[in-house]
Amino acid sequence: MENSSCTCNRNLSVDEVKNMVRELRDKDAYVKKKYGYNLFSKSNCKIPENDKTYERFTEELNACFRRYEINTCIRKIYFLAQCYVESMYFTTTQEAGSETYLRSKPYYPFIGRGILQLTHSGDKPGEAGYKQYFKYLGKEGYKTDYEILNKSLHYAVDVSGYFWYRGKLLTDGDTLKSKYPNPKGTYTIFPKKKVDGYTSIDLNLVADDDNVREATFLVNGGQNAIDERINFTKEIKNIFNYEKCKNKK
Ligand SMILES: [Zn+2]
Repeated sequence: MENSSCTCNRNLSVDEVKNMVRELRDKDAYVKKKYGYNLFSKSNCKIPENDKTYERFTEELNACFRRYEINTCIRKIYFLAQCYVESMYFTTTQEAGSETYLRSKPYYPFIGRGILQLTHSGDKPGEAGYKQYFKYLGKEGYKTDYEILNKSLHYAVDVSGYFWYRGKLLTDGDTLKSKYPNPKGTYTIFPKKKVDGYTSIDLNLVADDDNVREATFLVNGGQNAIDERINFTKEIKNIFNYEKCKNKK
């Protein structure tokens, strides 16, 4: 019965998550041929086999949604669309590239991990994001145990919600004026948060503003794969029947 209401303030069902991935992949022959409907099947993804299921993924997504206030249709749609791109269509939880290539990055070994791959965001290359998340968990050892974000489905999803909510690290100031206009043509002014000496922005607020370009800027730092992100956001809106959302503005 839960599926008769929009996805605001309720869990997604396993069938809804499965259906979303099916519909997205059915529209892309290359991705469908390569990965079928399998989750996290790329070889650089170290999630245990028994966690690569829709049941477990749905469970972790719902826990993440609850913990990080990703509680309305538009917030879920935005989070899922950005994660779908960043995780290469939910096939991996680690930044793409060979070991040699990744080692050449100034932020190695603090490379992008999790389904949003925001972990390397920070002022000092890489470290700040990991340090911040481990501190939040009350866990020691971010300098040695960083791989848990690619080896555990729980942490791979949770860290993504954490960065969605706690935000990408930004320069000081109390507000951020959006770089890109929302669909109404407005440049929205978002309040910044202060977290452990860093300034950041809650991406839920950017989702509320329905601004894919701004969300992409804050996730990616640029407009990489913007057409895909716009397209997936639109498709997921259709899949979850966003037109019928009771909180749609
Ligand atoms: Zn809704």
